[in-house]
Amino acid sequence: MAHKRGSGSTPLDRLTSHYDDVDLRCPSCGYEDDEGGWKAETNGDTVLYRHICPSCGSIRKRTLKLRS
Ligand SMILES: [Zn+2]
Repeated sequence: MAHKRGSGSTPLDRLTSHYDDVDLRCPSCGYEDDEGGWKAETNGDTVLYRHICPSCGSIRKRTLKLRS
């Protein structure tokens, strides 16, 4: 099987890269995480995004409904 990840061809990949470009500045300490990004997980109908600030350790979470 030749299933590859990271090609940007799935909706989740597009959503992940969307969040990679925005809001990487920590609201707690102001650190801008250029190296990091939002990590996405999905359970089928909801995507959970998580970002951990490497400077102060603050964790931010966002959820997004894929379908209603
Ligand atoms: Zn921070």
